[in-house]
Amino acid sequence: MMYTSVEELLNFVNNSTSPWHTVETAADMLSKESFQELDWRSKWEKGLKGRFFTKIYGSSLIAFTLGENEGRLRISAAHTDFPGFRIKPKAGIIKEGYGMLNIEGYGGMILSTWLDRPLSMAGKIVLRGENVFAPEVRLVDFARPLMTIPSLAIHMNRKVNDGVELNKQKHMLPLTSVLGKLGEKSFFDDFLANELGVNAKDILSYELNVYPFESSCQLGLAGELVSAGRLDNITSCVACLKGIVNADISCGTNVAVLFDNEEIGSRTKQGAASAVLMQFLERIYKLQEKDNEELWQDIANGFMLSVDVAHGVHPNYSEKADPTCRPVLNGGVVLKEAASQSYAGDAEAVAVIGELCNVNNIPYQHFVNRSDSPGGSTLGSIASALVPIRTMDIGLPILAMHSARETMGAADQDAINNLLIEFYH
Ligand SMILES: [Zn+2]
Repeated sequence: MMYTSVEELLNFVNNSTSPWHTVETAADMLSKESFQELDWRSKWEKGLKGRFFTKIYGSSLIAFTLGENEGRLRISAAHTDFPGFRIKPKAGIIKEGYGMLNIEGYGGMILSTWLDRPLSMAGKIVLRGENVFAPEVRLVDFARPLMTIPSLAIHMNRKVNDGVELNKQKHMLPLTSVLGKLGEKSFFDDFLANELGVNAKDILSYELNVYPFESSCQLGLAGELVSAGRLDNITSCVACLKGIVNADISCGTNVAVLFDNEEIGSRTKQGAASAVLMQFLERIYKLQEKDNEELWQDIANGFMLSVDVAHGVHPNYSEKADPTCRPVLNGGVVLKEAASQSYAGDAEAVAVIGELCNVNNIPYQHFVNRSDSPGGSTLGSIASALVPIRTMDIGLPILAMHSARETMGAADQDAINNLLIEFYH
């Protein structure tokens, strides 16, 4: 059985090949739902009412609805980025007549999962413009296999299955062409110029990420599972967007934020550790002629869902899970808690979201780390330290988090979409 929510999710995943493309895909979806785009850099009109979105530096996005019913603030947040590789400047390297690319890591990826796959590349390329301070930006997604990172044959390392050290600078450079003796180091810049139909000298810079060029699929004997790249965190972006497009504009102030840079710590101008969310809230409150007193009250009475994937218990490594809280795929939404507050929920937040699931028949389960493992973290605690609002960390359970290809349960996207829809209801 193919779930409509899975089909929708996989379309979104396929179009979200870089954080900028995630934002474009979200913007398309919002525009189709008659959300109006506002330019973050321009003046916004007083007395705004309705459905809007704004992009922040191209890789973060805030969607929001402003209604008549005052004093109810609901926020959801997810992230647009994913671990992988970025192409360095002056990337062309020729070794043994092969054209290789110099790359660096972005976030904490499982290196071995990037080996021996067809890879493509997407991101932005910045060209010389008429004004030095306003260069021309082009989003690109080559959407075809351009490179691969070949592993070493087992005959040359018989111990490969005992675990092998992979050095990002030495072992992970992608092979992209066979140039022979006549190869020029500028082969990569020439390729980009050719693809864009511009002079290589007019390319001033780029941010290009490498992504696995393989189609996503539903799998399993009864199609119970989904296999795709970037489930962390497109599953959550989709849920936040589904929630806000279904929100009634009479229901107070609803906000869905898709932040970039969670995978590298959120501390960037468009990340969750920036002033951007608080700045946004102050801005919309001022435009509605509400003062800080009202904003602070609404924050104190409000609620934020920080949505990011969770670890399902792994059948081959079941000892890695907590003894009592063991989320399974297709078991529904995961409520994540940590005494260290690496997850932002307090007891009231857990109770509220658990009960919201109960009254709407949405399946849910609990996650905590094993006490001898620090586990991960996400943007909930960071964002709620800057906008001091009660926050709960939730997400879908997945396996192989931060692999080039992750696995989730096919029924779980429905559960999280429904929770986000009820959250804004
Ligand atoms: Zn994540």
